[in-house]
Amino acid sequence: MRPKIWLKPTRAQEIRRIVEDLLLKVKFAELPVPVEAVAKTLDISVKFAPYSEGDLAGMLILQPRPTIAVNSAHHRNRQRFTIAHEIGHFLLHKKESIHIDEKMAVLYRDKNSSMAINPQEVEANHFAAELLMPKRILLKDLANKQIDLEEDEILLNLAKRYGVSQQAMAFRIANILS
Ligand SMILES: [Zn+2]
Repeated sequence: MRPKIWLKPTRAQEIRRIVEDLLLKVKFAELPVPVEAVAKTLDISVKFAPYSEGDLAGMLILQPRPTIAVNSAHHRNRQRFTIAHEIGHFLLHKKESIHIDEKMAVLYRDKNSSMAINPQEVEANHFAAELLMPKRILLKDLANKQIDLEEDEILLNLAKRYGVSQQAMAFRIANILS
């Protein structure tokens, strides 16, 4: 389960702090984390369009105003991850006026994908995981539970609760508990 590309612990902590500050500002009452409200808090608008070419997940456009474009053809969980990933680019990188994400290697599994070895993509994915599955909340959910990552039902329920894919949840739990 451990990805090939790992963030430096100091950078991972920095990203967690940024996410925790952000979550305090958003003040959501219950899960799943409202990613679109998070974007709104940062004055980023979120637009959906059915991109059929390639496997475009989404993009971040900074001019004339910050906008995240999301592929409306994708599953809702994937859209949520894309929005969170682009918010990560917005807060952590914000260098290019437009950033396009194709074939996002959410779990860093695709060895051939340049996305997986690009440090900015690793950071944006880490940010997304922190935002959608906040460590503090997830640890509470995991407390007193024997988590068997092969046990589909537990994972499925957690994935539903957080609005993420089962894969993303399994990866996050492995990361948190490692
Ligand atoms: Zn990206």
